[in-house]
Amino acid sequence: MEELLNKKNEEENLEIPVGPARLVILQPTSFCNIDCSYCYVPDRQVKGVMPLELVEKLCDRLIDEDLLSSRCSVVWHAGEPLTAGKKYLNEAFDIVHRKIGEKTKVQLTIQTNGTLIDSQWIQIFKEHKVRVGVSLDGPKWLHDKHRKDRSSKGSFEATVHGLKQLIDAGVDTYVLAVVTQSTLDWAQEFYEFFHALGVKDLGLIPEEVDGINLTSSLEGENVLQSFDDFLKHLHACYVQYQRKPEIREFRGVRESIFYSKPITAASNYKTRAYNLLTIDKNGGYTTFSPELAGMHTARGEDYVFGNIRTDAIRESVKTRKFQDFYRAFYAGVQLCEKQCQWFSMCGGGLPSNKLAETGRLDVAETMSCRLHVQAFAKTSLHYYNSIIPNVQVMTEPERTA
Ligand code: SF4
Repeated sequence: MEELLNKKNEEENLEIPVGPARLVILQPTSFCNIDCSYCYVPDRQVKGVMPLELVEKLCDRLIDEDLLSSRCSVVWHAGEPLTAGKKYLNEAFDIVHRKIGEKTKVQLTIQTNGTLIDSQWIQIFKEHKVRVGVSLDGPKWLHDKHRKDRSSKGSFEATVHGLKQLIDAGVDTYVLAVVTQSTLDWAQEFYEFFHALGVKDLGLIPEEVDGINLTSSLEGENVLQSFDDFLKHLHACYVQYQRKPEIREFRGVRESIFYSKPITAASNYKTRAYNLLTIDKNGGYTTFSPELAGMHTARGEDYVFGNIRTDAIRESVKTRKFQDFYRAFYAGVQLCEKQCQWFSMCGGGLPSNKLAETGRLDVAETMSCRLHVQAFAKTSLHYYNSIIPNVQVMTEPERTA
C-alpha cells in the first residue's frame, strides 16, 4: 500500500494490479418483468439483449489477455435475465463452456426473480450445470410489499412456484433476500419460512442505498439497533435449526474467524482491478461493484472504463479516467484500513455504496458497512464469545460471491 501511496503523491501513473477475473457478471438485459421498489438497476422497462457475439468477445479477451483465474464464476445478473429467452441463454451458456470451459473451472450462475421458471428452464439449467439464485424476501406479506409487477400485483406465488420446481428437480439453488425495516419484527417467521421451503443457502441483503436506489428503510441509528436485535434473533434460529438454511453472511464471518489467513495489502483481492468484471448489455465494462455500470458522477460521467468489443481490459487501467477513479477508490480503502476495526474481515472497497451514500469514493464507513458487514460480524462474535472466550475476527475468507 505504501508504494502505491508514494506514487500517488508523485502524481505518477499508478501501477494498478489487474485480475485475474474470478467473478464475471454479465448484464444481458436491463429489462425486468417486475418492478421492485428498491431495485438499483436503471432502464428496467427497456427491452434489448446483449448480442451473443459480445459473450464470445468477452471469452476471447479473457484468454488473450491472460485474465482467467483457475476458477471463474460467470453470473448472469441485473434486469431479469430469463426475459432474454431460452434460446438466447442456452447459446450463451454454450459459448462460455466451449470457449473457456477447458481452460478454467467455470461455475455458471443466474440470478432471477424466479417468476418465469418452467420445466424447460430446469432442463437448461441441469444440462449446463447452472447454479440458480432466486430473489425471495420471505413470507408473502414481506415479499409482496416491495416485489410487485407493473400493475402492483405481488410476485410471491410465481416466485415460490419457480423456486419449488428448482428444489424438487435438484438444481443447485440458493435464495437472496432483501431485508427491509418491515422484516425486522419477523426474524423467526422469516427463518422458519425458508427452512420449511427446503432452502439450503440464504444470502441476506440489507436494503441498500445503491445504484439508482437513493433511500433505504434501514437508514437511521434507531433502525440499526432494531437490525442488531433482528440478527441476534435470526442467529438463534440459525443455531436452533442447525444452519438449515445456511446464511451466507454468518458463514463468511465463521470462516474468517476459524479457517482463513489474515488479509494483507498484497492478498486483498478487493483492490485488484477486474477481479470482479461487469459487462453491460452494450459491452461496456466496469469493475469493483456491478452497480457502477449504471451510475454517474454529478457531472454526468459514467464508470464504464472500456467496451469489450474494442478496448483491451489490461490497457484500460492506464487511462486517465481509470487512474483518477482508482486514486479516489484506493484512498477510500486506505481510510478503511486506518479507521475500521473490521478491515481484516472486509478488505474495504464497496465503492458503489460509498458513492451512492456520500457522492465520494475516498471515504470509509457507510450505512451498508454497518448493516451488511459489521452487524453480522458483531452478532456472530457475540455468539462465539458466549461459547469460546476471546474469539477475534482476524481474516477474510477467499470467496467471490
Ligand atoms: S466495513 Fe466499511 S469501513 Fe470497514 S473496511 Fe469494510 S468498507 Fe471499510
